[in-house]
Amino acid sequence: MATSLLRIPPPQGLLRPLAVPERLLLGPGPSNVPPRILAAGGRQLLGHMHAEVLQVMDEIKAGIQYAFQTQNQLTLAISGSGHCAMEAALLNLLESGDTALVAVNGIWGQRAAEIARRLGAHVHELLKPPGEYFTLRDIEEVSAGCGMGQRAQPDPGGCHIPLCFMQGLSRHKPSVLFITHGESSTGVLQPLEGLGELCHRHGCLLLVDAVASLGGAPIFMDQQEIDVLYSGSQKVLNAPPGSAPISFSKQAREKMLRRKTKPSSFYLDLGWLANYWGCDGEPRRYHHTAPVNSFFSLREGLAMLAETGLESSWERHRANCARLCQGLCDLGLELFVKEEVARLPTVTTVRVPEGYDWKDITAFLMDNHAIEIAGGLGPSVGKVLRIGLMGCNSTCGNVDRVLRALQDALGHCRRRSR
Ligand code: PMP
Repeated sequence: MATSLLRIPPPQGLLRPLAVPERLLLGPGPSNVPPRILAAGGRQLLGHMHAEVLQVMDEIKAGIQYAFQTQNQLTLAISGSGHCAMEAALLNLLESGDTALVAVNGIWGQRAAEIARRLGAHVHELLKPPGEYFTLRDIEEVSAGCGMGQRAQPDPGGCHIPLCFMQGLSRHKPSVLFITHGESSTGVLQPLEGLGELCHRHGCLLLVDAVASLGGAPIFMDQQEIDVLYSGSQKVLNAPPGSAPISFSKQAREKMLRRKTKPSSFYLDLGWLANYWGCDGEPRRYHHTAPVNSFFSLREGLAMLAETGLESSWERHRANCARLCQGLCDLGLELFVKEEVARLPTVTTVRVPEGYDWKDITAFLMDNHAIEIAGGLGPSVGKVLRIGLMGCNSTCGNVDRVLRALQDALGHCRRRSR
């Protein structure tokens, strides 16, 4: 009998059926995928250049134009998660030696600054403490608040006071400003009114991350003069992770056309992607094998948003967030973001209550209620719990369910003082 050449046996885990428990995903994303979107993703595959798939891509493009409120021709979905869109935005806009100003009040600004530095850009960070947002004045000239930078000293409250004033657009003259609309690590909603106009007055393009906020809080790409806007599929759009809406203004497109060097990534080169997405008027060419089933899901997520209507969706997220905030206060918990207008309707943050470990609470909800909520991320680690209500998960029923679960957790998870 021939002996097998195989030295590695088939893994036991793969010989068992796939196990996927039922969970209510009320963290900062991903959110649950409703049956209609699941079914779309489970349809039979088609070729990535088939006319029907190109038609779906056109429908996605129109859906993104609606969700972003933009007429930009250069509108498409990146084949990747939100980070991939962040990289695509930065690496197509920036060249080595360009100057970028990055507003950092949580992890997403930190990540953008890291990516921009890797691209060889001169990066200046505008710092604000987690839980706060930027005013137009902060961005234009001085930020005298307390920041998280290295040249900072902790104050007795654990906050960091900068030793110098940090300066914005007028001092650094960046070609790009990065800012996060929905800061999901801290629960802050960044006001965008007047920001695009301010940037343009300073010859700077405005790049906005709306991964956690799109569909849950108003944003108007054209009216707010945003040059690059991107989001993700797995938050309010309720599609699985893996595709990311993005759009570029005429000015952003012109900056990309003026580049002296090619973008460092072939996969994320907007010139190629624009062609594949039918944005350049040329016959579409193969660039990469698109995640066709992810596009089916994204199409359905955008279709559900279009059917609901942006205004109703924003209002539902606002109302359920308000109900959640009230319920959290009634439980004796302290909201992390003080100003009501600055609270992100899709992700609510509360301080970890005194006498509790955040890990005990998140584990209790998972083990006893099959509900995911999250601890902090980046600068908010150990400080907050984060509760997400996104898309179809933003319902009164889910608010009440998570509040009951939290009440139960507060009764069980208090640590005995030694
Ligand atoms: N930006 C924001 C505001 C986010 O909330 C997230 C995801 N939590 C991302 C970017 C990154 O997206 P992804 O995890 O899909 O790469």
